Amino acid sequence: MDEFQLIDRYFRHPTLSDGVKVGIGDDGAVLATRSDQDLVVVTDTLVEGVHFFSDVAPADLGYKTLAVNLSDLAAMGAEPDWAMLNLVLPTANPNWLEQFSAGFFSLADRCHVTLVGGDTSCGPLNLTVTAGGWVPRGQALCRNGARNGDFIYVSGTVGDAALGLQLVSWPDSLSERTENRVVDRLRRPEPRTLLGQALRPWATAAIDLSDGLAADLAHVAVASGGLGAVIEEDRLPLSVEALELRTRKQLIPIALGGGDDYELCFCVPPEHRGEIDRLGNRLSLPLTMIGQMDTTPGIWVVGENGVRQEYRSSGHLHYWAD
Ligand code: ADP
Ligand code: MG
Repeated sequence: MDEFQLIDRYFRHPTLSDGVKVGIGDDGAVLATRSDQDLVVVTDTLVEGVHFFSDVAPADLGYKTLAVNLSDLAAMGAEPDWAMLNLVLPTANPNWLEQFSAGFFSLADRCHVTLVGGDTSCGPLNLTVTAGGWVPRGQALCRNGARNGDFIYVSGTVGDAALGLQLVSWPDSLSERTENRVVDRLRRPEPRTLLGQALRPWATAAIDLSDGLAADLAHVAVASGGLGAVIEEDRLPLSVEALELRTRKQLIPIALGGGDDYELCFCVPPEHRGEIDRLGNRLSLPLTMIGQMDTTPGIWVVGENGVRQEYRSSGHLHYWAD
């Protein structure tokens, strides 16, 4: 199978957007611009051994390589539109390609994203997606707009993906069904596409949670003119599944330090909290207020004893133990 057969067989797919004038098959894609909108462009690479284990299911990998990019678009408040896929593959294995592309397009189709091009070459497994999306002019959500006193929110639950990583790394004998649901959060993160777009009028700043809540929130705080953030530990939204496997106390460091959840963390002036409650109901997605932006730089955590302490990473989570 040569490169052109491979692209034809696995990656040529119906166009989902009117804006794609020329898609896969020419030297470049030709995309119509939108006069009243800004184009948001994101890119992310997954490397074997760094971002995923070599035994991961190819369909999950296809899904996730797109999902992490759609999550970045969501954090910017953008409506996803198109993607490009750069594949570096050790071999062209038809079975692997079949599953990988099925995983990729399961998410692309659901989110109305058209694959408009890419590149395919031979080498150590490495997957890069570049994606584009649209926001009304001047309305992109950035990291630098948070203000002192803003409420800090997170969507969904936090810590599941990092707990999933522990379970994959050191399987234990706990309930397999619960375990699978936590591990699914690691394998198939849900990009918060609708939430990101709906937050445009209300959020002063937003970021997606890839490195961990404390680390990602620190990016917002620093970018917003050197503010700080205070997180109330007992407000952190933990999943029922995670709580079946670990105690709340055990989960807090994972929720603060663990990455890969791909939830959105965003700041909203207190007077708009009613809008956020309504939005959570409309999207059937928990949006939890976890603390407030503050003028003291740093990430601060209020523990169950009410004492405020500066957040310090509990070390390398992979070696986290009781
Ligand atoms: P060129 O040699 O002109 O750069 P290629 O032979 O690399 O073109 O690619 C031919 C066409 O297939 C181009 O439209 C390119 O965007 C597309 N393409 C290549 N690899 C992929 C891929 N992995 N996924 C989607 N489209 C791809
Ligand atoms: Mg060319």
